[in-house]
Order: sequence, then C-alpha cells, then structure tokens
Amino acid sequence: MHITGQNYIAGAWTAGATEIENRNPSDLSDLVGIYAQAEAAQLEAALDQARVAQAEWAAYGMERKQAVLMAIGTEMMARAEELGTLLCREEGKPLAEGKGEVYRAGQFFTYYAAECLRQLGENADSVRPGVEVDVRREPVGTVAIISPWNFPTATASWKIAPALCYGNAVVWKPANITPASAVALTEIIAKQDIPKGLFSLVMGSGREIGQQLVESPKVNAISFTGSVPVGKGIAAAAIQNLTKVQMEMGSKNALAVMDDADLDLAVTLALGGAFGGTGQKCTASSRLVVHAGVHDAFVEKLVAGAQAMKVGHALQAGTQIGPVVSQQQLDENLAYVALGQAEGAELACGGERLEMPHDGYYMSPGVFVGTSNAMRINREEMFAPLTSVIKVDGYEEALSVVNDTNFGLTSGIVTTSLARATHFRRNARTGVVTVNLPTAGTDYHVPFGGRGDSSYGPREQGKAAAEFYTTVKTAYISAGTP
Ligand code: NDP
Repeated sequence: MHITGQNYIAGAWTAGATEIENRNPSDLSDLVGIYAQAEAAQLEAALDQARVAQAEWAAYGMERKQAVLMAIGTEMMARAEELGTLLCREEGKPLAEGKGEVYRAGQFFTYYAAECLRQLGENADSVRPGVEVDVRREPVGTVAIISPWNFPTATASWKIAPALCYGNAVVWKPANITPASAVALTEIIAKQDIPKGLFSLVMGSGREIGQQLVESPKVNAISFTGSVPVGKGIAAAAIQNLTKVQMEMGSKNALAVMDDADLDLAVTLALGGAFGGTGQKCTASSRLVVHAGVHDAFVEKLVAGAQAMKVGHALQAGTQIGPVVSQQQLDENLAYVALGQAEGAELACGGERLEMPHDGYYMSPGVFVGTSNAMRINREEMFAPLTSVIKVDGYEEALSVVNDTNFGLTSGIVTTSLARATHFRRNARTGVVTVNLPTAGTDYHVPFGGRGDSSYGPREQGKAAAEFYTTVKTAYISAGTP
C-alpha cells in the first residue's frame, strides 16, 4: 500500500508496522491518505536522539534559532491556502477557518522567532557583600507534545514554536484523526537548519504510543491539549517521573447577554461562538445565559440565525458549518440531543443528522431553550454544534450561573453597561474573559489558559510560555578582590 505520510524519527522519514486510513469527514469517498503508525522502538529512538540534538540546538546562536523559526512561520503563512485546504479536507472546518488557522499557526512561529532574541535574565546584588546574582532561564530538555484534532495545526504550533524558541527538543504525537496536517507541518520543520532528531513526529494511537510517551523517563516536560479524562491519566503518568506537565482541556464556556445589550451583536457573537469550527472548540459558547428582559427577542433572532446557517462540504463556497469530525463524535452529539430532551430542555431548532449529496458526518446546528444550569447538557463538554439558552433574572444571577461550572476556560458578557462589564471582567472565574466579543478567538502574544478542570500547569502562549518551556537557574558570582 502506498503510504502518504510517514513518521519523522531521529531525522529520517520512517514507515511503521501498521498504517491508518484518513478520510474526509465531508465526503467519506475521499481518501485523504494512508499514514504510518509509530512502533514502540521508533519512539525510543526518537527520544534518544532528541537528547543528543537538544544539547546541540541549545548551543546554536540565538540568530540561527530565530532564522529557523522565522522560515517555518513565513512558509506556513505563504502556504496558508494550500495547507488550509488539506486541513479542512481531513478535519472538516470551512475553508476560511482552515486557511486562517494555518496563517495563525505561522504567526506563532514568527512571534517566537522574535522571542529568540528577547530572552533576558535578571541581575541582583547578593545579600552577601561582593557577590552578584544572575538569574536566567535554560531549556527543560525534551518536550513531549500531544495535540488534538480540532485545531490540528494551530494547537501544535503554539506548543512547538515556544518549545524550540527556548532551546528544547520536541517529540510530537498529534491526534491520530488528523495526520495529514501533522505531516505537512513536519515537512516544513524537517527541511530547516536543525540538528538531526531535534524534532520528531510519532503518529499512532494515544492509548499506545501516546501512553508510552507520557510514561517515559526520557521526557522532561509534557504539553497536552485534549479531554479531561485523558489529561488526568497523563498527569498521573507524569508524576511517576516527576515530569513537568501543562494541560489545556475541556470547558463549558458561557456568554452572558444582558438586557442592555446590542441584541444583534449578541446574536452574532452567540452564533459564531457556538457554531464556529462546528462547535468543536474548547472556547465554544455552549451556554448562553440570557437576561429575562431580552430572552424572547434574543431566542427568536438566535433560532432564525441558526436555521439560516449553511451546513455543507468544508471546501464548498458558502459553507458556514462543516461536518463534525467523525462518526463517533456525531453519535455522541446526537446522544446529547436526546439527553437534553430527556432532561426537559426544548430543542428550538436543529440537532438533526443531515443527509447531503456527499456521505459525511453532517448535523444541523441545534439550540436548546428552557434549560437549567443543572442539566448535564450544561455541565458536560459536548464539543458539538449545540448550544443552550439559560434564562436568568438579572446580572447577579447571570454571573453566578456563568461561574457555576467545573470548568473555567473562557466567558463573555454582552452589555453596554461599563459597570457590569467591569464587574464581570473582575469576577468571572475563567482564565480568559471577553466583553462584547465572542468567547472564542484569542491572540498569540498574551497568555492563554483556564481554571478548574480546563487547565493545569503554567499558561500557554506569549511570554507566559517561558514558564513551562524553561527552567530557572540562579547563579551566585563572587568577583573576588581586584
Ligand atoms: P483526547 O483527549 O482523547 O485526545 C487528545 C490527544 O491525546 C490526542 O492526540 C490523543 O491521541 C492523545 N491521547 C489519547 N489517549 C492518550 C493517552 N492515554 N496518553 C497519551 N495521549 C493520549 O481528545 P480527543 O481529541 O479525542 O477529543 C475528545 C474530547 O476532548 C472532545 O470531545 C473535547 O471534549 C475534548 N477536547 C478538548 C480540546 C481543547 O482544546 N480543550 C481539544 C480537543 C478535544 P489519539 O488521537 O490517538 O486518540
């Protein structure tokens, strides 16, 4: 069988013992490719070579590192259309979102290219006369990166770019359902001026090769994005070796709509936040907490807006919502639709399996109304094009509902009141908070992460990333007598 994509192990493209098929969720007759699965021994080889390569990379000059990251980012931005099309073919998001994702991923590399030149330490006088203190950051060593399928290029890039910037080696285990994007990014990295084995791609199932990776004592730090149960398992494995760990997991983000809000803006934000990326975003607006004073008008506009959204093939012009990623995800989504109705929620629109000219995993965007925050559909992350409206009597109740969750990644408020916006910004218990903006959509030069079950360990992105990808060294220097 012709293999479309191989693993990249210790500086060489390598087949595995087995392969998997990668099919287009918009059209199951479209085979995106056949991808190799890494074997246990290949992962060990990648880890062994990473250790050697890391020492060499750490000794590269900062301008040489900067040039590598800049070249990766520049190429990704220049090829955003081509790579975005490939991403959409395997993941199912509409083309504009896929192109945007690849371009943004390139920006992570160019941002951290510049950071290569901006790594400053601190100096201090010691409490002991004649002694000086020098505090600086050093690489942690070999970083295991485990990434999800929903942003297959961007999430991996916001981990890989800082890992390399701060002088580490990387062993990357991407989601097995999106290998094409992983191979494409690896091809760009592999052709750069980097030591052999500095960057390895090991494809394979999370339960096998992923578990082996997180249990390895050869790994110095693990950065993971995915589900809470898998994250907890990874943390448990990491602690056995006292490996540093950083995790971004699920959420149940709320957008609060106040009675003083611009209602059209609120509906636009809710639709984009709930159904962008087919609802498969950790920052999705899955709870819409709406003031009773505008509830009925908001619901009417929201339902009309959801019904007007065009569901279709990811690469077809005009598509606003693509298919969900897999049969399993579709089954889970439809089960949540049934669960919500069984819990007493009213399905105001959508939430149905759609038949299309192409056989794919299509469903209509669904809106639940008449829900309470205690319902499972409002407590569990669905990762689906589904959202729930929760009616509240005032601002205080809205804030309390927003904060009544085990998660805490993002939250937002739509209001024209400066007082409410300010109070919300200061009292919402989430890592990211937005005012008159969607709950999804963040910048790359500032910290990203959440609270509660949403995140664990240091923040990602911006300068905050240094906390995870480096370790601090404090040096004491006695100058002696001149
Ligand atoms: P998972 O947590 O199952 O997978 C995320 C990554 O972890 C994948 O690369 C996966 O590999 C890998 N993995 C799985 N099991 C292990 C393991 N035992 N050891 C090491 N690595 C492992 O999430 P999914 O991507 O399957 O999505 C499931 C749910 O996760 C979603 O429905 C959503 O709720 C949540 N999620 C949250 C995201 C966020 O950004 N916060 C992003 C994506 C998902 P493999 O692909 O082979 O399973």
